[in-house]
Amino acid sequence: MEDLSKLKGVGDKTVKILKKKKVNNIFDLLWRLPKSFTDRSILSKINELQIGKIHTIKITPVKYNFPRIRNLPNRVTCEDETGKLDCIFFNSYEGYIRKILPLNKEVTISGKINFFKKKYQITNPTYVSTNESLIKGVHNKYSLTEGINEKMYNKILNQILNNLPILNEWHDKKILKKFNNISWSESIKKLHMPENIGKYNSNFYKRLSFDEILSSLLIFSEIRKKIKKIKKNKKIFTNKLHENIMKKINFRLTNDQMRALNEINNDIGSQNKMFRLLQGDVGSGKTIVALLSSLNVIESGYQVAFMAPTEILASQHYNLAKRIFPKNINIEILSNKIDPKKRKIVTENLIENKINIIFGTHAIFQKKILFKNLGFIIIDEQHKFGVRQRKLLSDKGGKNCDILLMSATPIPRTLTMSIYGDMDVSIIREKPNHRKDILTYSKIENKIDEVLDFVKKNISVGNQIFWVCPLIEESKKVDHVSAIKKFEYLKKIFPNQIGIIHSKIDDNEKQKILENFLNNKFKILVSTTIIEVGIDFPNANVIVIENSNKFGLSQLHQLRGRVGRGSKQSFCILMFKSNLSENARKRINILKKTNDGFLIAEEDMKLRGFGDVLGFKQSGLKNYRLADPVHNEDLFIMAKEEIERIEKNEKNLNKYKPLLKLYDQADVINDII
Ligand code: ADP
Ligand code: MG
Repeated sequence: MEDLSKLKGVGDKTVKILKKKKVNNIFDLLWRLPKSFTDRSILSKINELQIGKIHTIKITPVKYNFPRIRNLPNRVTCEDETGKLDCIFFNSYEGYIRKILPLNKEVTISGKINFFKKKYQITNPTYVSTNESLIKGVHNKYSLTEGINEKMYNKILNQILNNLPILNEWHDKKILKKFNNISWSESIKKLHMPENIGKYNSNFYKRLSFDEILSSLLIFSEIRKKIKKIKKNKKIFTNKLHENIMKKINFRLTNDQMRALNEINNDIGSQNKMFRLLQGDVGSGKTIVALLSSLNVIESGYQVAFMAPTEILASQHYNLAKRIFPKNINIEILSNKIDPKKRKIVTENLIENKINIIFGTHAIFQKKILFKNLGFIIIDEQHKFGVRQRKLLSDKGGKNCDILLMSATPIPRTLTMSIYGDMDVSIIREKPNHRKDILTYSKIENKIDEVLDFVKKNISVGNQIFWVCPLIEESKKVDHVSAIKKFEYLKKIFPNQIGIIHSKIDDNEKQKILENFLNNKFKILVSTTIIEVGIDFPNANVIVIENSNKFGLSQLHQLRGRVGRGSKQSFCILMFKSNLSENARKRINILKKTNDGFLIAEEDMKLRGFGDVLGFKQSGLKNYRLADPVHNEDLFIMAKEEIERIEKNEKNLNKYKPLLKLYDQADVINDII
């Protein structure tokens, strides 16, 4: 029953439309929940109609009007004993209209009423039938897409719901009891009943959420078993190179950094392939940990690939490595913008093992790029990458390749579990100890003079300033205009002290501007959010964020993290227009109160739901459809215990096969490792 085209009334065209909506098979339709419903059960008379409302009416067509002029709609005048009403058809053929609305025969129609030239009208009625019982009733409303109307969608869905397969129960009796023994098919039917919309705490909803969680964790458990089974060659190293590096940087590692480094080194030196997440708030010092462990991998004779989401960040990591790594280590960078000759040389050197460590954006995992002996993949700001991109890079690794994912968005344990399963996690909670909390203020836009005074004061003592203009997802264009406008405005006040970057500026130019800013050649950098990720500017200590109410909490926290990396006191000024929504006010207050990224992420998830927080929606990471890692913590814990039982007691997963199939998890296996 998977194939969409097996459904009645679903042709190639509809299949195509559905696929665009990521509905690839029948199961995908099951998890699309009705958003609301329309009650079409009450029959109205024409003299009772209300404009703008949906009505169901019994009418008799009395006159056709089929104009022969293009773009003019076809019209059928209808009546009942209380008045007249026109049915208007755009894009419908005369023959079809004659068929569904035969003259002088009573027909039931349903649709939205409008009023035009003193007459009631229904334009393209949703339902027309001589069989009243097909229309009268409560109809679910799903989020539709052009080309599929409500009637058609419900028809498709009812076919599925009326033909649900009887599946053998996969759950243990004890588990089932927690959901009042409700079966899968009964749960699905209930899920689609209009009166059950939004009943997240009911048995049917929880059972289905649990099904979903369990199927994911089952897969993760299988993957983990598989990874654990892989025996790789131990990497042999002495840690000696580290001492040299520590002399070149003027700080000592925090305890958390040391612990993370040890955990990674143990994995690298073991026979098990590493698949580890390194989590730490912005500025907690993940880069150096990754670089130190890279050195060990290089010492043991393997190559390292270090991937970052932006060119700027990749080159910052590259420059750092250039500065601190011993001279005999070959370090390269590869980006999409690199000139073809250089690219060719780099590519050749990679195959010949003449490069020890390569930095780059996703350019480094293109098919053409081959490694001789890749032993370590580091993915910085990993949530910015799609699963497929990560998979491509991991595919290059082979069995001897360790994988380290790094993320600055701290996420609670259930969430890590829900995304990666029970993967190994190292956490850096502690900030380098000289670091002061960033002081955060909010300022209404019309008090910009006070902000300008503050900026002047900071410039006069040698500090630098970020000035961020929002990037609202829907209208990138407008935003870069807003950054330019602000730039022009500030330039008059701070001539020769100001630069700008936004996505429309060419990468080489961008690079130059950033380097100049880094070298303190000018004082204020106006930008859109392209500076959000990872870049380190120790001398900048003020960040002004305009229209801050447009950003999510985690994003504001990340942006704020651009400052406060040096030893100076740093400041974040959140500007806003008047009329903050309650949510925006909450966000701003949380930021004023705390610098703790873990806490902020948790609050953010409560406010927005987890997909938005991590940017997964953009990155295409498989999302849960019913379950919600923030609100269903209990179900996650229960599923984890059940997995342990299954691992211990069940010989194979045959019993769970239908479940796995339902959630189309086969592809996930391929996606994750
Ligand atoms: P993130 O975890 O956000 O990637 P980075 O690795 O970019 O953070 O580090 C932020 C800044 O902190 C860098 O300038 C880095 O040199 C510095 N840093 C890292 N570890 C320490 C430490 N233990 N003591 C002082 N400064 C540190
Ligand atoms: Mg970083």
